[in-house]
Amino acid sequence: MNNSLDILSLPKHQDNLAHAYIVEGIDIKKRLINIQGLTRSLLCQTEQTIVGDFCGHCHSCNLLNADTHPDFMMVNADEGTIGVDDVRAISQFLSNMSHLSGNQVVVIEHAENMTENASNALLKTLEEPTNKCFIFLLCKTKSVLLPTILSRCQFIQINNKSKDELKLTYPELADYIIGFSNNSESELAKWVEEQKVEEFTEVYQLFIQWLKKQIPNFVISNKVLSNPLMSSFLLYLIEKRIRQLMLKSAKTGNSTSALTASKLLTKYNQTSNLIKGQNKALAMSQLLTSVEPLIR
Ligand SMILES: [Zn+2]
Repeated sequence: MNNSLDILSLPKHQDNLAHAYIVEGIDIKKRLINIQGLTRSLLCQTEQTIVGDFCGHCHSCNLLNADTHPDFMMVNADEGTIGVDDVRAISQFLSNMSHLSGNQVVVIEHAENMTENASNALLKTLEEPTNKCFIFLLCKTKSVLLPTILSRCQFIQINNKSKDELKLTYPELADYIIGFSNNSESELAKWVEEQKVEEFTEVYQLFIQWLKKQIPNFVISNKVLSNPLMSSFLLYLIEKRIRQLMLKSAKTGNSTSALTASKLLTKYNQTSNLIKGQNKALAMSQLLTSVEPLIR
């Protein structure tokens, strides 16, 4: 059985794989599908040579299906952080002998959530890999990881579909929705399934009206405030507008307004998570008031 991995850049034979890989790609689902295929192929007891191949029915494949494989460890922290204790658990796990095929696999999902101390603790494990262990660090972009970690890992880049390919798959979606997803197909599929498209369109139209000064600030901020997804969508639209203006002003040589707007937006993004309750509305309204004359 072949899992048709995206990861075509990997060596064909297991013996040639490195011990540690950083798997980089914006689409979380794609990252996971790829890594599941790799894990299967590394742990399968029947197909042990070709990367990507697995039988799907041996004892090991069955244990993986049941999420009870003793040689597989998944560290997941999509919220919160991965701390030193988590990394200690990894080295503890790897110090055991493999129970089945001989290989051991550790997957760290959201590796960007590792604390600095945890990263430093992981270095030791990366420096002294046990013979048949494989560690995969999954993240959106490797630039968020410590250089010392980067220097000890190989990279796997999982490519997203291009904007044009996504437009073919989702002809009904506007460019600004595809752009907001960062070309993430799984994100788009989720939004379509959850029927968010209409809401995006509504916020987009409000944004255009707001830029034209046809509606006051509170109409648009009231629309998005109680909804984190729509709030970030509005911020994305503002950022996109600022970028357009910067491009334009690069030609005319006057980019002061766009730069000021960009600074205000960055400041807001840095502090808005800390703001709670009523003050959130106030902060958003302040941002809109200050940015509006700069990006019109
Ligand atoms: Zn198998």
